[in-house]
Amino acid sequence: MSLKWLNWLRPGVYMQGRHPWLVSAGLALALSTLGNAPFWWALAQLPEVNNLRAYAGLIGIWAALTLLMWVFVNLVVWPWWRKPLGVLLLVMTMTASYFMAMYGVVIDPTMVANAMQTNSAEVRDLLSLTLLLTLVIGVGVPGLWWWRLEPGACLGWQRWTHQLGAVVVGSALTAALLLLVFQDLASLMRNHTTLRFMINPFNTVYAVGRLAKTEQAQRQQPLQAIGDDASARPIDAKAAAPVLILVVGETARAANFSIGGYERPTTPKLQALQAQGDLYYFSQVQSCGTNTQVSVPCLFSHLDRKANTDNTVSYESLLDVLQKAGWAVLWLENQSGCKGVCDRVAHVDTSIIKHPQFCVAGECWDEVMLDGLSERMATLSAERRARGTVVVMHQMGSHGPAYYKRSPPERKVFLPECTSNALPSCNTQALRNAYDNSIAYTDHFLGQVVSWLKTQQQPTALWYVSDHGESLGENGIYLHGMPYKMAPKEQTHVPMALWVSPAMRRHWAVDDACLRAQQSKPWSHDNWFHTVLGSADVKTGLYQPEMDITRACRH
Ligand SMILES: [Zn+2]
Repeated sequence: MSLKWLNWLRPGVYMQGRHPWLVSAGLALALSTLGNAPFWWALAQLPEVNNLRAYAGLIGIWAALTLLMWVFVNLVVWPWWRKPLGVLLLVMTMTASYFMAMYGVVIDPTMVANAMQTNSAEVRDLLSLTLLLTLVIGVGVPGLWWWRLEPGACLGWQRWTHQLGAVVVGSALTAALLLLVFQDLASLMRNHTTLRFMINPFNTVYAVGRLAKTEQAQRQQPLQAIGDDASARPIDAKAAAPVLILVVGETARAANFSIGGYERPTTPKLQALQAQGDLYYFSQVQSCGTNTQVSVPCLFSHLDRKANTDNTVSYESLLDVLQKAGWAVLWLENQSGCKGVCDRVAHVDTSIIKHPQFCVAGECWDEVMLDGLSERMATLSAERRARGTVVVMHQMGSHGPAYYKRSPPERKVFLPECTSNALPSCNTQALRNAYDNSIAYTDHFLGQVVSWLKTQQQPTALWYVSDHGESLGENGIYLHGMPYKMAPKEQTHVPMALWVSPAMRRHWAVDDACLRAQQSKPWSHDNWFHTVLGSADVKTGLYQPEMDITRACRH
């Protein structure tokens, strides 16, 4: 029997030896249609798309995007790198499409910055069979076709006229089509701002370009010193020096903290401490960004969120100022790095600890940061410790999408848990269980930190704040990292708490009723820099008393 009929399955048959315009149009069509499936899906779901005119508009937009893609392909895909670049474009569009469709995220400069700073554990958490299948269908099939395809031969100079001709003709046609659909398109883009970050691969190309420009600008500027005038309270030989622990949470959203009104008991420890009168929970706190990359540096910056957004200058951080004031500073890292904040202070990465109880497969539960803490602090300069010590604990917290990995088996309260990273395919309740277990574990961890602080002879306090929130499927959005202006409140409303020891209460001469009154006021990450400086009693011209949450309550 002849297997000749199988030939139609053989990629490379289509368009073999055809005109280069036709060949590049084939790739453009694959990119604009298959590579932008989430964009088309999002457009089709819009409430405005409900009549004949809107459908015609969609077809117009599709034709314009395909033409634009054709121009783009002819502009960048030249014979010398035709095959690998074509496949790379398919990989870019399909991977971005997968994450957009799966988690409802969009591709903007900070998302690309995140992707570039990721580590193997984070990548492992995101891999799934669905991703593999997407890549096989979206990259494998058209990629194989593209790799085997040879356009019709033409002379060297003809190539130039062909491709540049396509750019000219394609641009003119795109412009004409865009004029036709301009009104509809403009109003859609205005009303649904996330759409512009959904067009593959232009979103990625734009984001990479924008990021490279910012980083280039930052590299040209030397690191700017801040707080050179910082000074601490003089050493009092009769009194013990204070110890502050700053816990920087990860992906914890205020909406799932029972101390803030959530209906499930996720924070019993914090509530018990609150009932004892030693803990204050700030219920209206806004994060600086929607991802670690933005929020952590911003949290430790003397600039507020607005100034940070446009800033291209690298400044020293809050920790440098504390160190200049003579305090001992230690950063404990249980996540993917301190994003430059701890570069000039003592820091320990838990990945080197390999603790048998707290660490599994290269990742540790947050309690590992309490292991041997006294010994680690003892290695800091005694002269500095006599003024005061600040220890920052950067949590793994509720880092997704593998929330179930964020709590040890014996501490799981809510079952069953979603153990897939393809979150939309999870049962809503199981997903919520896994996330709530991670919050309950953070509650337990904070309780352990307070227990440790209680064993110290000095005045001690704990400040806790999360770096950003998380979406758990509200409106089809998962994870975090939405551009700030369009981010849902779940991603920006974060928990913040303060625990004060009796000795610290005297040291600060703090007024309990006044602190209570601060709990429901609207605060943000902008207040952290000044609040920590105030808590450490460090004097510097950078300190703004009105930004310090506790200023009015200390005497
Ligand atoms: Zn984060």
